[in-house]
Amino acid sequence: MTKKVNIFWFRRDLRLDDNLGFYEALKSEHPVLPIFIFDTSILEKLPKNDARVTFIFETLQGLRQTLQDEHGSSIAIFKGKPEDTYKQLISEYDIETVFTNHDYEPYATERDNSIKTLLEKNNIEFKTYKDQVIFEKSEVVKNDGKPYMVYTPYMRKWKEKFRNLDLEIFYTNSYLDNLIEHSRLPNLSLADIGFEKSSQEIAAYDVTPTLIKNYEATRNFPAKDATSRLGPHLRFGTVSIRKMVKKAIAEDNEVFWQELIWREFFMQILWHFPHTKDKAFKPKYDRIEWRNNEEEFKKWCAGKTGYPLVDAGMRQLNATGFMHNRVRMLVGSFLCKHLLIDWRWGEAYFAEKLHDYDMASNVGNWQWVAGSGVDASPYFRIFNPTTQIQKFDKNLEYIKKWVPDFQELTYPKQIVDHKEARERCLIRYKSALD
Ligand code: FAD
Repeated sequence: MTKKVNIFWFRRDLRLDDNLGFYEALKSEHPVLPIFIFDTSILEKLPKNDARVTFIFETLQGLRQTLQDEHGSSIAIFKGKPEDTYKQLISEYDIETVFTNHDYEPYATERDNSIKTLLEKNNIEFKTYKDQVIFEKSEVVKNDGKPYMVYTPYMRKWKEKFRNLDLEIFYTNSYLDNLIEHSRLPNLSLADIGFEKSSQEIAAYDVTPTLIKNYEATRNFPAKDATSRLGPHLRFGTVSIRKMVKKAIAEDNEVFWQELIWREFFMQILWHFPHTKDKAFKPKYDRIEWRNNEEEFKKWCAGKTGYPLVDAGMRQLNATGFMHNRVRMLVGSFLCKHLLIDWRWGEAYFAEKLHDYDMASNVGNWQWVAGSGVDASPYFRIFNPTTQIQKFDKNLEYIKKWVPDFQELTYPKQIVDHKEARERCLIRYKSALD
């Protein structure tokens, strides 16, 4: 056996700086072996050209290169079930502690529990840290200790707690020489993982002072493309939430800041109510008799409903892996209310396509749209897909970009009549909820 090492396990924190678990590992007394595991139980559910897998792969290669060039180290990349990878690592190294950051999704919680058990059986400590949020789990709760289920009081309490917080940034630079000296740690190609390079790229983020300053005025207009595109970077941890919140505060823009709080609101909801990943938060909404017409679902997915703003959103999603928030709300409402298709179908389609897919935000927002979730829009408020154009794409710029055929004879006829669909929806919802 060689001398003792500590492991740092990268997951949703693909960056070297201001990464708390990594920082704590680097400050420990043994050299650190950084690892990443391409988890086959996640990979097997994804299309082979998944853009997120390409992004993770390329990000890791970039980090490896930096560590090789500047610190004579690297990141060991594996593919398999995490338990099997750990069994292999335990046989190869004398490990004292595995460091990592908290991951709150239901699958991740189960996975981490079983890894912790395996490690402890081998006298290895498993230490995990809060890194992907400012406040987690039960840190922002009501005075009686129960979780908030309405956003506004949650947000107020969040801000109150934040005022008393001395937000620290964890600079790792001076500790990076505590990495294991080894520039030939195992690597894999995309093909080894069973994937191919995606033709879609994850967009860069923009949190310049100008974007944040104009955010409130421009964020609702999809043609302006004036949102930060932070989603996938927060999801995969290529940016630190602490640094982002500091920026938002520096620009003094409450609205932008509050969007970041929505993310944490939905994360704590999924943490406290993990069954809501596929069950209505308000149980009686699971009594709704969805029509679930497969032909109509296919048309919705393809952006062929005959409603130009709905179609523009779906075509933007299919072509780029992104859809503007305003349009996400409309296409979601259209699916659940106009077509009476189960929100879970839409949630699953978004999960496959969105570069910024995040279970807590996706489920939370879909349930908001369907009316079944926490703090949801009332079911009788049904977006009108035509008046939404006047409000948010008056000059048809967004529609012309994504649905250039919208005035041609070949453009599909409206899949449902708005007025009839609205009435049908109200009857169906009412009969389930009364
Ligand atoms: P910006 O407007 O620049 O906001 C900055 C950040 O704040 C976002 O990156 C995100 O982390 C957070 N944020 C903003 N709005 C919300 C919100 N409503 N809920 C939670 N966090 C928010 N967001 C996801 O991150 N992943 C999803 O899977 C997801 N699915 C959605 C599904 C539906 C049906 C709807 C209506 C919204 C969904 N959202 C989701 C929320 C929102 O649409 C995206 O976060 C936003 O459009 C991403 O663009 P941006 O990064 O430019 O956001």
